[in-house]
Amino acid sequence: MDASEFRRRGKEMVDYVANYLEGIESRLVYPDVEPGYLRPLLPSSAPEEPETFEDIIGDIERIIMPGAASPACTELETVMLDWLGKMLRLPDAFLAGDASLGGGVIQGSASEATLVALLAARTKVTRRLQAAFPELTQAAIMEKLVAYSSDQAHSSVERAGLIGGVKLKPIPSDSNFSMRAAALQEALQRDKAAGLIPFFVVATLGTTNCCSFDNLLEVGPICNEEDMWLHIDAAYAGSAFICPEFRHLLDGVEFADSFNFNPHKWLLVNFDCSAMWVKQRKDLIGAFKLDPVYLKHGHQDSGLITDYRHWQIPLGRRFRSLKMWFVFRMYGVKGLQAYIRKHVQLAHEFESLVRQDPRFEICMDVTLGLVCFRLKGSNQLNETLLKRINSARKIHLVPCHLRDKFVLRFAICSREVESAHVQRAWQHIRELADEVLSLDRA
Ligand code: PLP
Repeated sequence: MDASEFRRRGKEMVDYVANYLEGIESRLVYPDVEPGYLRPLLPSSAPEEPETFEDIIGDIERIIMPGAASPACTELETVMLDWLGKMLRLPDAFLAGDASLGGGVIQGSASEATLVALLAARTKVTRRLQAAFPELTQAAIMEKLVAYSSDQAHSSVERAGLIGGVKLKPIPSDSNFSMRAAALQEALQRDKAAGLIPFFVVATLGTTNCCSFDNLLEVGPICNEEDMWLHIDAAYAGSAFICPEFRHLLDGVEFADSFNFNPHKWLLVNFDCSAMWVKQRKDLIGAFKLDPVYLKHGHQDSGLITDYRHWQIPLGRRFRSLKMWFVFRMYGVKGLQAYIRKHVQLAHEFESLVRQDPRFEICMDVTLGLVCFRLKGSNQLNETLLKRINSARKIHLVPCHLRDKFVLRFAICSREVESAHVQRAWQHIRELADEVLSLDRA
């Protein structure tokens, strides 16, 4: 879609909303559809090829409007999470299907998803221990609970530990910034010997610093053996798993209890949209369910009927699955894959430009759309270069520390980015590097 089509479609949507308001008295106050009405009206997976805007708008009147906000909002979300789960080839246990134990939900952010998973895991282990040892109080258990993530995990993981009131310990990552079995085992042995109760592990696929990947195939089986909840945070990288050539990065997801990534980061869905799947929906519902009389509606969360308020922290929720429906249909799976591939290819283009200049080094293998690089030399030199780059205001780079090195990060993330932008950005960085290096020599 080019800019003029965006403008035209946007105006059509405004007309649609105005017409809806004008004709609101002719609509039903309460929908006359039965729960479960929507799934049979939709294909079981996302289209491979793009569909037209007219097709989708037509379906809004035909499929969504008769179900109004409820149950259409809930049911479209369940089906969209199944579509997306199938694009990623998630194990069936994570999909809602018609009557499975698992399913997906849209959270507002990856931070919320991690927190929700941690709280559910906390409740699950507490109930298990209290069933076995009824004399144990919740406070006594909480004091001993311990969770783990790699030392490369996003700060939101540590924050989930803080909010959840449990210890969260960093596991030292290996030379590829990956959490491995040996380091996790060492921590488990030490903590169990000290009387602590390990209950929760967050594995990151695509770390914020350098897009490294924890080793799920090693960490997953340990979590299963030790009865620890495994949550996967793939906030950024998850979108890439819709491409068969990147799907191997998700191998081991079958060991996880919950998995999350942000379609709003890299799958063209507007903020906010963080997709989360669980294998056992009862673990979430069991952790958060309260049923005051003003929220009773006679339906139980089971089979066809999902009550997402029990899957999340807020009560109210928006109709966020509509934007997934539009994006998946307007691009088709092939269009979305092409979008990811283009970004990865542009990241490799930038990488090869950096490699051609002997003054620079690449600091981490380029797997997806992030290139970590630096001038060979001191951290001070690189900090000066970064300052120049960002104060020139033509491009913006966010740095990181990889061990003791100050590193620059070049991220391909705009919908409109082309090779010419990458070339121009590199030319600009080189010119500023010339200045910084000549000052350094002077
Ligand atoms: N996890 C990782 C790996 C991230 O890169 C980020 C954000 O960049 C987050 C979590 C936090 O995401 P959100 O803003 O959706 O909470």
